[in-house]
Amino acid sequence: MKSMSIKIKTLTPIWTGGVNGKCDILHETGIIGSMRWWYEAIVRGLGEDACDPTGRGCIFDKGKYDNAKNKGENEHEALHTAGLCDVCQLFGATGWKRRFNLTITDNNTGSAWEGEGFNVRPPSRSHGWFLEAGMVGSFTLMIRGDPDAIKRLAALFIFLEKWGAIGAKSQLGYGFFEITNCDEIQGYAMDWSEIHNQVDLSGLPDLRQFTFFKYRFKPSRDDWWTRVGGLQRLLGNPKTASKLSELAKSYGIVPVSPVLKNQWRYVEWSAPSATKRWIFGTSDQEKRKGKISISWAYREKDMWVVRGWAWLPEEERIKSRTIQHRQEIGVVVNMLKNELVWKKTLNLDNNSRTDLYVERLANTGNNIGNDKVINFLKR
Ligand SMILES: [Zn+2]
Repeated sequence: MKSMSIKIKTLTPIWTGGVNGKCDILHETGIIGSMRWWYEAIVRGLGEDACDPTGRGCIFDKGKYDNAKNKGENEHEALHTAGLCDVCQLFGATGWKRRFNLTITDNNTGSAWEGEGFNVRPPSRSHGWFLEAGMVGSFTLMIRGDPDAIKRLAALFIFLEKWGAIGAKSQLGYGFFEITNCDEIQGYAMDWSEIHNQVDLSGLPDLRQFTFFKYRFKPSRDDWWTRVGGLQRLLGNPKTASKLSELAKSYGIVPVSPVLKNQWRYVEWSAPSATKRWIFGTSDQEKRKGKISISWAYREKDMWVVRGWAWLPEEERIKSRTIQHRQEIGVVVNMLKNELVWKKTLNLDNNSRTDLYVERLANTGNNIGNDKVINFLKR
């Protein structure tokens, strides 16, 4: 057994679920769930196999495992023969234990604000996006496992720090974080090019269908966030105004994700509403998860950052039908690439310095190779 302590500082509030729809302590299970989701997408992106955990999932067959071992297969091959996909080998499945333990220690987190959440409702919208506090601060993830598990999880966290998030509700901007002992964790991490194999386009999250984006800006005014359209209504109410200004001034975070989603969804794009629901999800009772996750704005040295990803599969199988999404994906990626829209939505003036990075990991042409994914993971 080996152990590794990942020191985490939240960049946006983290949400790990809990009783009565509140999140007042951090739950390990909420973090492990998100780790698994991302690990699946990476493994598929590298062409390895990952089962659908919402379906039947993998089942470990001890007899087949022993047999394979006797025939001289290595651990990884034997586990495959015994019915475990790459993800279940690490995260566990029926009959097979998770290969690591994760506990939260040195927990210095607290609620991002006290009391009720608030609704970010951009002008001219009748509904909005309801945000609850979530937890901010720092904590350590103590992970124990065999050396192979540790090196995979180290690589996973290095990736998530740069491009992903942990916990739930990333669509609303929760769970973006920083690793404060990054060099140490980097030292444990595996090289992703150790995993690669053939293709499997199963319709499940696959990094080859992801577009990652990062918008950085240096506003000309410190109080730039008071001028963002969708937040102004909250600033008119003393109760929500004090929560917002505390968030911005003490924690350096501003919940702009609803405002940007609103702009893309309702202002910049005229697509049929079914397509929009597919991309952006629904905030009503139906609660369909959207395909775009975007952080809140957070401070990084003298800049502010908003980043996230869009998971946009080119084909979607619904029952026996296959729906093509190539056209919409092109439009969405172009919207994300339009720096003017970012600037306008955040109401930044011309004296603000900005830069935008957008990368879609799909290979052009046959879409089979995974060089783009490997290069991106190594960045
Ligand atoms: Zn599996």
